[in-house]
Amino acid sequence: MTNARFYAFPGSEAVGSARYPRAGITLAAAGPMKAGRDGENRARVFRSLAVAPDSVVALTQIHSRIVHVAESAAPFRGLPEGDGILTRNRDLVPSVTVADCMPIWLFDPVTGCFGVLHSGWKGTGIVRAALELAREEWGAVSGNFRVILGPHIRSCCYTVDAERAEFFTRTFGPATVSTDSALLAAGNRWPYRLSLAEANKALLAGQGVPAEHVLDVGECTACDNVFGSNRREGPEAFTHMAAFIQMR
Ligand SMILES: [Zn+2]
Repeated sequence: MTNARFYAFPGSEAVGSARYPRAGITLAAAGPMKAGRDGENRARVFRSLAVAPDSVVALTQIHSRIVHVAESAAPFRGLPEGDGILTRNRDLVPSVTVADCMPIWLFDPVTGCFGVLHSGWKGTGIVRAALELAREEWGAVSGNFRVILGPHIRSCCYTVDAERAEFFTRTFGPATVSTDSALLAAGNRWPYRLSLAEANKALLAGQGVPAEHVLDVGECTACDNVFGSNRREGPEAFTHMAAFIQMR
């Protein structure tokens, strides 16, 4: 049984190469990983992945665009509210939980800044907030960042109503929404298909991150039951997965 999946940053030779952090996500088989609720399971799973539980920093997630700078683990013991963590402290392992929302891993090989974000439809735009924060804190240049857009509910499964579709078209551009004519003809109230990946690619391009620095892993959490999925498993029973980033 596989507990986690890892992705290699564009430009890195291999997952977890000496210069690059490893970007990981626990799978449904690892069990629920919600911070503050599933502490014992988190500690067990992180240890199995060679991550010291005390090095992991986490948040109380609120679907915001709030990103924290982590200098040490102590301020995160109380799980402050927010949806992203950036750091240059190589002893820390920033983490968020997801189950249909998108995990976004970030790494700047020039300043050594790395982190992970929780980006669902409400929080879309948090990647821009993270790049702005890295610029303010460390003078990081957005174009140097390597970015991984992780598994999330994709347009194959992510149908939404007219209001959300219009909001995305207006805010992130027409490429982020497609109309499913069959659903529309059938009178379905959610006939629009949303692409969180397209929205984030547009945001990254707008910040000057080259397309070749961005990896879209292409996986859909609602299609593939190795992942936890709010929509597939239901709001009461879905499996929070931990997305984390570790320098080694
Ligand atoms: Zn799907």
